[in-house]
Amino acid sequence: MKAVIIGAGLGGLLSGAKLSKAGYEVEIFERLPFIGGRFANLDYRGFKLSTGALHMIPHGSRGPLAQMLREVGAGVTIVDSKPAAVIKMNDDTEIAFKDFQKQLSLTKNIKLGTILLYSRKFKPKNDLSFKDWILKYFDDDFLLKLADSFCGWALSLRAKDVPAQEMLEIIDNMYLYKGSGIPKGGCGAVTGALADVIKSNGGKIHTGECVDKIIIDKEKACGVSASERTIDADIIISDIGHLETVRMYDCRDEAYSGRINKARPSKGIKICLSSDEPLIGHSGVFFTPYAERINGINEVTNADPNLAPPGKHLVMSHQTVISDDLNQEINLGLLDLKKLFSGKKYEVLLVQSYSDGWPVNRASSGSDIGNWTPVQNLYVVGDGAKGKGGIEVEGVALGVMNVMKEIGIIV
Ligand SMILES: Cc1cc2nc3c(=O)[nH]c(=O)nc-3n(C[C@H](O)[C@H](O)[C@H](O)COP(=O)(O)OP(=O)(O)OC[C@H]3O[C@@H](n4cnc5c(N)ncnc54)[C@H](O)[C@@H]3O)c2cc1C
Repeated sequence: MKAVIIGAGLGGLLSGAKLSKAGYEVEIFERLPFIGGRFANLDYRGFKLSTGALHMIPHGSRGPLAQMLREVGAGVTIVDSKPAAVIKMNDDTEIAFKDFQKQLSLTKNIKLGTILLYSRKFKPKNDLSFKDWILKYFDDDFLLKLADSFCGWALSLRAKDVPAQEMLEIIDNMYLYKGSGIPKGGCGAVTGALADVIKSNGGKIHTGECVDKIIIDKEKACGVSASERTIDADIIISDIGHLETVRMYDCRDEAYSGRINKARPSKGIKICLSSDEPLIGHSGVFFTPYAERINGINEVTNADPNLAPPGKHLVMSHQTVISDDLNQEINLGLLDLKKLFSGKKYEVLLVQSYSDGWPVNRASSGSDIGNWTPVQNLYVVGDGAKGKGGIEVEGVALGVMNVMKEIGIIV
């Protein structure tokens, strides 16, 4: 059996590793000259910056991605964050998640406990946003700010743009799998290890080769055309989202076309800083609910010092984009960092913005429609088709698991 995969991002490589291990002949086509998509390293002055991700794996060594990496034998070490997360409060105090019970008031603890209970037992069935859901049950400014900070960091959305149902699935998964981790060597080490697995199982990865057509015969996908040649396949997996995939064949399923047009990519801004002294001092997520724009920050060198040159730290902040004025958004982010790290010395290494064809998420959480397509043997993976309740790359892994189950590969 032959599988052709369109795109060598995390979703494409995970699928390729799984299929090649199951005995499929795998061929991957990547239009760019490098693999990894938005989960690749960018080497800059000895720092391992990235094409997208902040080097974080949302559920660390216990989550769906870590599980799949182990299953396919990808040699990746994930350093679990300690503490998982810390919140910068309005009065500049910092509270670790694990100390909530001790440091937050009884009322706030009851409210947080109630959210957890709802996420486990009573997920809303309607399409209320997470913000409106919080307003309905708890009138609490801190919870609203924390919700925006968490949604901004993890999904590059505001709480008003995430369905409560999806957010409570995410909280449920956080309860199940716990907090984040950082892969040694950064996100490029993950995609690099997956490429090694594929190659060691005889698979091929072609870089600099763009797929421009999916060939359909009697409503079944049977091949692609790339670089002016045709490649036959029994299964085609697309890692480029439903919208881009559907442009490559003549889709006559109007209901499907209508649904995929509703999926919106999420936008974001990442700012990378270098410093001699630690700015945060731990490897967990530093949530900043009271900042103007920055939603959260991590200092990845506390998990893997090799992500920066000797003696340096690498700090990455993330913010969702709120207005149409990108320059203003960036300036407000830079101003936040100045305030958050006032009195500390750092250098801004790089500011990157993400939208449209190179977004934070191809289909924002709650707007993706899963992995199914109306064409037999054609599946979509990646962050345009995440599994339920999956934050970013965990959602990518859950989506790949769904596809593997569908085609009969045990996961
Ligand atoms: C600023 C930012 C921060 C983030 N931080 C994190 C984080 O810390 N943790 C986390 O879990 N997630 C994070 N994410 C999200 C994460 O990076 C993505 O969800 C994930 O990398 C998406 O992988 P993918 O395989 O779906 O898509 P992609 O990485 O986009 O891969 C798709 C590939 O397909 C290729 N392609 C497109 N069209 C064609 C074609 N016609 N033919 C051949 N190839 C084609 C593209 O070039 C690309 O390489 C972040 C994203 C951003 C932008």
